[in-house]
Amino acid sequence: MNCSKNNKYDIFIIGGGINGAGIARDAAGRGYAVALAEMNDFASGTSSASTKLFHGGLRYLEFFEFRLVREALIEREVLLKVTPHISWPMRFVLPVNPEMQVESYTPISLVLARLMPWMKERRPTWLIRLGLYVYDFLGKRNILPGTVTVDLKNNEVGKPLQEKYKIAFEYSDCWVEDSRLTLLNVIDAQQRGATIYSRTKVMSAIQEKGVWKIQLKSEEGKNSFCSSKILINAAGPWVVDVIQNLAHLESHDKVRLIKGSHIVTKKLFEHEKCYIFQGEDGRVLFAIPYEEDYTLIGTTEVEHSNIYTYPECSNAEIDYIIAFVNSYLANKISKSDVIWTYSGVRPLYDDGASSVAAAATRDYAVKVNSSAGAPALNIFGGKITTYRRLAERVMSEIDQIMRKKTDPWTAGVALPGGDTSIEGVTELRQSLALQLPFLDKFTIRRLIRQYGTQCAFIFRNINSIDDLGEHFGHGLFAHEIDWAIANEWVQTAEDFLWRRTKLGLRLTKSQASVLEEYITNFLDYK
Ligand code: FAD
Repeated sequence: MNCSKNNKYDIFIIGGGINGAGIARDAAGRGYAVALAEMNDFASGTSSASTKLFHGGLRYLEFFEFRLVREALIEREVLLKVTPHISWPMRFVLPVNPEMQVESYTPISLVLARLMPWMKERRPTWLIRLGLYVYDFLGKRNILPGTVTVDLKNNEVGKPLQEKYKIAFEYSDCWVEDSRLTLLNVIDAQQRGATIYSRTKVMSAIQEKGVWKIQLKSEEGKNSFCSSKILINAAGPWVVDVIQNLAHLESHDKVRLIKGSHIVTKKLFEHEKCYIFQGEDGRVLFAIPYEEDYTLIGTTEVEHSNIYTYPECSNAEIDYIIAFVNSYLANKISKSDVIWTYSGVRPLYDDGASSVAAAATRDYAVKVNSSAGAPALNIFGGKITTYRRLAERVMSEIDQIMRKKTDPWTAGVALPGGDTSIEGVTELRQSLALQLPFLDKFTIRRLIRQYGTQCAFIFRNINSIDDLGEHFGHGLFAHEIDWAIANEWVQTAEDFLWRRTKLGLRLTKSQASVLEEYITNFLDYK
C-alpha cells in the first residue's frame, strides 16, 4: 500500500475523468503516494459523453495526424486485451459517395488542390481506400480484421441504406463503455493504494516551500487539507480554470472547448455493424448499434464558449444529425424518433493552428509548469483511446521530477473484471446463465459486460430470485445496487442509471424514483 501519512502525497490529481483515473492507476502501481479528487461523480464530465470508440480516427489522417492515429490504432488491441468485458471489436461500414466533399482547410485537401486542381474539395474513392490501407498498416493488427470492399446490393448492411449507395468499405475499430473504463481505472488505482476523494472539489492549490497545499471541499461542505509534491491538472474542460483560478500558474496555454452531441433512437437496423457516413460539409457521422435495442448517432462540433454552461444538445444539432443520417437511410427518421440526447465538451489544446473547430488537434499535450515554485502538470486534449499512453507520458515526466526510474506496467495488466480473454467473455456468460437461470438473457449479458469475472464473486451466494432482493425493473435488483453503492461509489440513481449502466434508457420515471429513494434510504441508514 502507498497510503500517505497525514494526507501527504507525491502526486495529487485533480479530475476523475479518464485521464486523471488512468494516471492515478499507473502512478499507484509504480509505488507513488497518490491522491485523486473528483468534484462530481467519476466520468461525469467528458468521459461519459464520448462516441465510445477505441479508434485511430480515420478522419485525422486527412489532417496528417500520423503520430496520434498510429498510437491510437495500436492502443485498440492493447486495451481490448485488458478490458475484454467492456470493449469489443466492431466493423465499420463506410458507403462510398463520390459526391462527397473534403474540408477545404485540411492538409490533404490543400495537397490535392495543388496536384489535381480538378479534384478540388472532392474526397475521391481512391483516397478513402488509400486512407484505409494506411489505417490497416499503421495499426499492427493481430485481433482485428482488415478492410474489405462490400457490394451493398448483396449484403445485409446495404438494406437500411438508399439504393443509390452501391459499394462500401468495411474496416475495424472497437467499442468501449467509456464511463466504466474510467471507473475501473479509479477502482484499480484505489486497490493499488491511491486515496480517492469522490464528490470532493479542489478549491485551491497554493505552493508553500516547494510543496502544494491543497484545499478540498466535500459535497456536504466539509473542508479538508492535504499536501503534495506534484500537482496534476487533469480537469478536462476545466483545465484553464484550475491553471488560472485554483493554482494561479503563469501560463500561455489555451484550451479550445468544442461541444459534441449525440442522439439515440430505437434500433434502426438489425445487424451489429456500425456506419460511418460522410457529409456534404466534409465531416463524418457514426450510426452505431447501442445497448441492444437502440442506435446511437453522432457527433457534432460546436464551439462551447463557457465552461460553466452545462453542455446540451441544441435543436439545431438534432436537425443537423437527422438531416445528415437521412441522406443515407432508406427509412428516414424525424425528431419524434429521438429518445435521448447527450453532449460533452472536448478540452482540446489550442495550438492556434486553425480557427475551425473540426481542425483543432485531437492529440494530447502535457505541459510541465513550475511557475509557482512546485511542479504542476497541465493536461490538454487526448482521447479515451490514448489515455493509457498519456498516463505513461505523464509518468516519465514525474520520474524526471522525482529523480526516480519506474517502469511502465499497464499494457498487459487487466482492469477489474477483465482477467479473461475475448472468447472467455462468452464462457462467462454461459456459466452465469447456468448459475442464475431465473434472470433473462439481456440481464445476463449486461451483468457480464459490466462486471466480467467479478460476477462470480458478486453473485456467489445467490441461489434464487428472492436472494436478489427488491426488483426495480429490467433485471435490476437490490443486491446489485447494494454492491454498486459499496464498491463503485454510487450515490444517486443517476450515477447508476447513466454512468455505471445505461439502464436509464429503459427504466420509467417512476421506476427511477423508486430506485432513488432506495439509494437515499440505504445511504442514510449507513
Ligand atoms: P473529463 O472526463 O471531463 O474529466 C475531468 C474531470 O475533472 C471532470 O469529471 C470534472 O468534474 C473534474 N474536475 C474539474 N475541476 C475540478 C476540481 N476543481 N476539483 C475536482 N474535480 C474537478 N475519444 C475517443 O477515444 N473515442 C471516442 O469515440 C471519442 N468520442 C468523443 C466524442 C465527443 C462528443 C467528445 C466530446 C469527446 C470524444 N472523445 C473520444 C474524447 C474523450 O472523450 C475525451 O478526450 C476524454 O474523455 C477527456 O477526458 P478528461 O479526463 O480529460 O476530461
